[in-house]
Amino acid sequence: MTTYTLPTEGLVSKPAHELAAMIQAGEITSREVTQAFLDRIAETDGEIGAFLHVGPEEALAAADAVDAQVNEGGTPASALAGVPLALKDLLVTTDAPTTAASKMLEGYMSPYDATVVKKLREAGIPILGKTNLDEFAMGSSTENSAYKKTKNPHDLERVPGGSGGGTAAALAAGQAPLGIGTDTGGSIRQPASLTGTVGVKPTYGGVSRYGVIACASSLDQVGPCANTVLDTALLHEIIGGHDEFDATSVDKQMPSLADAAREGAKGDLSGVKIGRIKQFNRPGTQDGVRERIDAAYEQLAAQGAEIVEVDCPSFDDVMGAYYIIQMSEVSSNLARFDGMRYGLRTGDDGTHSAEEVMAITRGEGFGSEVKRRIILGTYALSVGYYDAYYLQAQRVRTLIAQDFERAFELCDVIAGPAVPSTAFKLGEKVDDPLAMYNFDLFTLPLNLAGLPGMSVPVGMASDTGLPVGLQLIAPAFADDRIYRVGAAVEAGLAASEN
Ligand code: GLN
Repeated sequence: MTTYTLPTEGLVSKPAHELAAMIQAGEITSREVTQAFLDRIAETDGEIGAFLHVGPEEALAAADAVDAQVNEGGTPASALAGVPLALKDLLVTTDAPTTAASKMLEGYMSPYDATVVKKLREAGIPILGKTNLDEFAMGSSTENSAYKKTKNPHDLERVPGGSGGGTAAALAAGQAPLGIGTDTGGSIRQPASLTGTVGVKPTYGGVSRYGVIACASSLDQVGPCANTVLDTALLHEIIGGHDEFDATSVDKQMPSLADAAREGAKGDLSGVKIGRIKQFNRPGTQDGVRERIDAAYEQLAAQGAEIVEVDCPSFDDVMGAYYIIQMSEVSSNLARFDGMRYGLRTGDDGTHSAEEVMAITRGEGFGSEVKRRIILGTYALSVGYYDAYYLQAQRVRTLIAQDFERAFELCDVIAGPAVPSTAFKLGEKVDDPLAMYNFDLFTLPLNLAGLPGMSVPVGMASDTGLPVGLQLIAPAFADDRIYRVGAAVEAGLAASEN
């Protein structure tokens, strides 16, 4: 079995915060660090397929700007200045094409940068390139990309998860120490779980969606990805905050996330109540996953946390509610790809009407999963069905949020599996959309309720030898809690491995 997992030595093996400290201390340049990751991409990405576009010149130019600042003795632009990053190709950039992994946007160049991208540039973070995803972020394996299949670095015959499989694979393979993902129903946390990396979906409204190609606007959130909890916390602080260009962005101060991670790393969770959701204890869960999650609860208890059982009865209806809302919003959001304003236009040969050109373009430009969702979403929103489907789904959404509210009266953080199994084989679920949808059962409720969540690695499943992620959930705008507990989980695991 060929693997391309994180090297154990050399620059590319180091976490982002260590690299940043070395750059600031003048021990190494950002150019050297950035080049090391570009070399790793060049060596391994032919096999892994994490990137849709790599931009060495742009990345090195950004690195040189950081190095110049260090040489002049200036204050660093951010805590991660000089450390390069892999960007999901769903965020628009002015210096690289943005495709959303769709033929519809092949070669599309944006006239502006997403707010998150702007913040990354201001923070002195070189962008290595744009990573692969399921087309328009719809899918659970990255196999819906119109361009390529991304492989899981732990086993090249398996998927890296989705939709953000490219970013997760890049981190797991040591191609990048930092990454950006988007999470509509699990697309950050689920690939993180399958690749043994850390991925965080912030509270809805915590990070700007401006310049993120919309999947389902009421569910989408941008979030940080890395190989350590502290790195995700540092990156979260850089990308988060209010943005006047995003109407759903919330102007709210949060406690320091990096401080929470540093506190958690001490490993003491005395006085912290951890909830265990009854409905997440499902029969279909893989034994090896169950074992790791149970071991994680034991470890949390050994660190002083109190484990309490919480009941979320409406979670049994999460699947229907999520997919009706997600598809309805998709059918509306993707109407803008009409062959007139953006990207692809086909059939414009003088013999077709504008409507026909739109139909031909959309027929050719979208892949089958995207078409399926546009059709089902349009149906759910149509006159006569709106009340029965869309409105009903919104009611279930409210019930799910209320389940969480009640649960958080009993605990500070909820912990459970991120995904019911470890990474599956490429091709295994492509012809079975329902099996693919079911895979995200544990990550969906948070998006419906707008809550923050993390997947943090808790070791390998004994039956498959593949990574398992523990999902941590906190109340809205208490993102600091998942960093504290996440760092404690990480510290506890490191101690048990040594
Ligand atoms: N897999 C889920 C879906 O297909 C979630 C996708 C996402 O979070 N972008 O909708």
